Amino acid sequence: MFLKIFTVLLIIVTFVNTSKVTFNGHRVYKVIPNNDNEKEVIINTQKQGIGELWLDQFDVRDGVRITVAPEKNQQFLDTMNKNDIEYKEVIADLQQVIDDQLKSASRSDRSTSFLSFDWDRYHTLDEIYNWLDQLQVNYPNIVTTVVMGRSVENREIKGIKINYNPNRNTTLIGMIEGTLHAREWIVPATATWIIKEFLTSTDPEMKALAKNIEWHIFPVVNPDGYVYTFTTHRMWRKNRSTRNFTSCASTGVDDDMSNGVDLNRNFDFAWMEVGASDNPCTNTFAGPFALSEPEARAVADYVLTLNNQGRLIYYFGLHSYTQLIVVPYSHITAEESAKLINYADMYEIAVRGAEKLKERFGTEYRVGVSADIMYPMSGTSFDWVKNVTDVPVSFLIELRDLGEYGFLLPASQIIPNNLEIMDALLEIDRTTRRLGYYYSGTNNLISSLTLIVFSIFVKLFVN
Ligand SMILES: [Zn+2]
Repeated sequence: MFLKIFTVLLIIVTFVNTSKVTFNGHRVYKVIPNNDNEKEVIINTQKQGIGELWLDQFDVRDGVRITVAPEKNQQFLDTMNKNDIEYKEVIADLQQVIDDQLKSASRSDRSTSFLSFDWDRYHTLDEIYNWLDQLQVNYPNIVTTVVMGRSVENREIKGIKINYNPNRNTTLIGMIEGTLHAREWIVPATATWIIKEFLTSTDPEMKALAKNIEWHIFPVVNPDGYVYTFTTHRMWRKNRSTRNFTSCASTGVDDDMSNGVDLNRNFDFAWMEVGASDNPCTNTFAGPFALSEPEARAVADYVLTLNNQGRLIYYFGLHSYTQLIVVPYSHITAEESAKLINYADMYEIAVRGAEKLKERFGTEYRVGVSADIMYPMSGTSFDWVKNVTDVPVSFLIELRDLGEYGFLLPASQIIPNNLEIMDALLEIDRTTRRLGYYYSGTNNLISSLTLIVFSIFVKLFVN
């Protein structure tokens, strides 16, 4: 009897879990709080079930987007008006924008296709993984497919290694990690483009960047979440761990929200110090303990292995949106970071990258520590990598856009986004080389000497 009831319950739960979440008639507003009181009101609208915030953390002046169901719309407007909070409708029908994003870009936006893969639309996990497998078949001497681990739902976390010169003496290693956050679809579209460029570009500088470094590129390190954004919930961010399932009634969101850990809060550096939540019903739930999630452990183990195999020179964690190159560390200020790590050099490298990026289409990226340009946070992968290895350059890059479409960036922007990012990567590499990091680690002599000469120069000039 008990077993029967259990089976029925299981079927119901399974059914509930797999029914697709739709957003027909849901509006998206951008709300801008001018002070902490107004910010509190906005946070409370989510607690009261009036709307769902796109970000758990936001600045007083920057504002945040909030999705509001049709039956809650009047209540939302009343709350905003009563409290004199600035708001603007930015999407009239969220489902329409989600559906549009699945369409291909217009023919004029298509320019490239490589091994039956293209960048005029977004791809499913299967398509991406099949393509990675094809690369190994087509470039057997250069490309190796790598599985770094498995997800909560036992999916492979698949990437590739690109190595043009397996017999070199010292191996410089670069790693690109994509899609820790499921809904950031522009990320795998960028990571796959970088792979294509490294394999097919005829530009001498691009070829040099591909060949000087052994690249490890993982377009989707959160495969369960990514699949879930296609099958069930387009706005899903976390992994799909069910271990912390609980009622989310007091948070004002669906209970399913507790089925997931924010992988970019789960790493074992300053874990849960700031900008992370111990509430499973939030988007920034850091997990029950550091590295509790198999996806985060897979990344961590893989990085440690790479760090033993050669000299890690680049770590790039790709995210969207807000157009930023974020420099470590995320839980402290720039001044505090500068005392601990080569912050000044990383900042310069990032600024040069952002300047070069802007030249092509005028797209502006901001540079700095997370606390200055976004919000303080902790337990992130790129901070952890910076802390645990001697990697000179570790960035978190937030891709397009500034929030017009946010996670729902139209497919027509994939290629422009990718072109400007490649410009930035090349400039980042030029600057890194100029600062001497190809030849030594973080505490390198050339950089210290430059700094000393520069200080002397400044002193003379000031006097
Ligand atoms: Zn992200």
